[in-house]
Amino acid sequence: MSLLEVTGLVAGYGNNAAVHEVDINVEAGEIVAILGPNGAGKTTLLSTIMGFIRPMAGSVRFDGRDLRDTPSHRRITAGMALVPEGRGIVSGLTVAENLRLVRRGDRSIVDLFPELHDKLDRRAGLLSGGEQQMVALARALATRPRLLFVDELSLGLGPRIVDRLLERLREAAADRDLAVVLVEQHVRQALHTASRAHVLSLGRVTMVETAQSLLANRAALEASYLGGSS
Ligand code: ATP
Repeated sequence: MSLLEVTGLVAGYGNNAAVHEVDINVEAGEIVAILGPNGAGKTTLLSTIMGFIRPMAGSVRFDGRDLRDTPSHRRITAGMALVPEGRGIVSGLTVAENLRLVRRGDRSIVDLFPELHDKLDRRAGLLSGGEQQMVALARALATRPRLLFVDELSLGLGPRIVDRLLERLREAAADRDLAVVLVEQHVRQALHTASRAHVLSLGRVTMVETAQSLLANRAALEASYLGGSS
């Protein structure tokens, strides 16, 4: 039994499905990337697994339990966490206040990000984009999740800071047996972080491969992307 089991998931907005018949399994300690072009359905998929969108069909099981009737706040207390696209930190609050917003907040989590130590009393909105993303990641990890969704961690950031954030994420996953689902536009960085990737195209999974084999076969990956935009 996998920690997360998504089977035949169909979801979208109104009567329009944006995600079709998606199957994904994620094991504890594993990092799985979800790749795909703009509009492929990546955020819709995460939002449905988190319980923000009600699926039209299919099922989501977490630790063996069917989540059909479990609202999003209970999924969070059961061990799911999300770093949303755009970070979701409160820019008017200090770093320390942002960390305190989460129940079970654990300030020692800033040990993961020594860069934040002398910035705990600074307003989050005054930090650099990379530091804001560290706060977002630290806050999500402070809830001690078992399954973490990270949506477009690299958005608007340079490659070096993205590499550093992803390295910390990898360490956290290994140290805590944390499962991670990583939605990324930066394919190379995602494939150096994840062990496996699902490629979404027009809401459907078109490829499931190990990161290693996708890195070795970029042509197939690019063809899958082009298929999605035609
Ligand atoms: P991106 O990489 O650009 O963030 P994505 O792969 O995350 O894209 P989604 O945001 O899940 O894609 O969008 C999938 C489809 O659902 C798109 O056609 C989009 O226009 C549509 N969509 C997204 N959000 C809504 C919404 N709130 N209402 C209606 N349609 C939506």
